Amino acid sequence: MKRAIFNHRSRIFYYGYLLFAICPVLFAICYLLSGCATLPTRESLPTYTIKGVTYLPLAALCNSRDITWEYDTFTRSAVLKKEGHKINLRVGDDLVLVDGVAENISSPVDIYQGVLVVPYRFKVKILDDLYKTPTAGRRLPVVLSRLKTIVIDAGHGGKDPGTTGKTGLKEKDINLDIARRLARILKNSGVNVIMTRTNDTYPSLARRVAIANNAKADLFMSIHTNANRVRSLKGFEVYYVSPKADDSKRALASAREAALNLDKSCFAGNSLYLRATVWDLLYTYNRGESMELASSICHTIHKNVDVCVLGVKNANFFVLRGARMPAVLVEIGFLSNSKEERLLKNNFYRQEIAESLTRGLEDYEQGLPIVTSRY
Ligand SMILES: [Zn+2]
Repeated sequence: MKRAIFNHRSRIFYYGYLLFAICPVLFAICYLLSGCATLPTRESLPTYTIKGVTYLPLAALCNSRDITWEYDTFTRSAVLKKEGHKINLRVGDDLVLVDGVAENISSPVDIYQGVLVVPYRFKVKILDDLYKTPTAGRRLPVVLSRLKTIVIDAGHGGKDPGTTGKTGLKEKDINLDIARRLARILKNSGVNVIMTRTNDTYPSLARRVAIANNAKADLFMSIHTNANRVRSLKGFEVYYVSPKADDSKRALASAREAALNLDKSCFAGNSLYLRATVWDLLYTYNRGESMELASSICHTIHKNVDVCVLGVKNANFFVLRGARMPAVLVEIGFLSNSKEERLLKNNFYRQEIAESLTRGLEDYEQGLPIVTSRY
């Protein structure tokens, strides 16, 4: 009996001790769980629940991402700016403008207890989409020390829309957007960037090449988007000058005919402008370097972007003299392919392409001989 009492007491003591030991652990778990309810975001932002929807304070959200913003009390609207992007939002509205394009964020922007708040979806759908890349740990800015002046040519423009996708997406607009993104990254890295066009205009081909030559640029990159009657065709490709372009007799013949001997399997777009651009590219004195550059770009795109890389191609036709520096023409995707058209509409995808292009330039520069003389 004594033994039973002892056992009973010791059991109580044992469980009591166990409870005493576990309590702090349970308390800590409870605290953390309750803390998570108020701090659900990675950025440890306070949250508010309005009509069952999670909201974040806009000021704290912008501060955590170095986004500059202004609020106008009269119009009850805010403008957010970073890296050339502009977001407009208005209290009571569930539509926001991202670089002029309307996006639905499901719940309206609100003012809660005197604080301007945005639905959690705004952070995920808009900010994470636009600014995901720097927080995703990708190396930025690029390190370029020897490529001091780079000319970026956004293909087509103005009267020449280039190719057009099924949904009406125009090549000239995509080319310009990616060229701008690329220019921004390079400028931030200290590179002198010259764009052949910065808006919806059409500089002549001669003008574009003259810009590059007059600037004694270290590199010329023309940005285009592809199209093909075979709608399943998709992917990324880079063109450089054809080794066959040295054939002066054939070049002369081509010049007389004022036409390019186009390899249709390589060139899907078949646009007069595209042919003319590559025509000029073929003039380069730096064919070998152009090939290296094209190869570097293909490798980095393959490594960083979920896209089928069709590879480096040379243009099998003949040209007159043009750009006097390494020059490539990139075809970033096929607008005739519905999946790629959808991707090319996406800001994040365009940014990914632009960043990968800069990585390609970086890799190319690292492979350059220490002393280079191009002129
Ligand atoms: Zn084009």
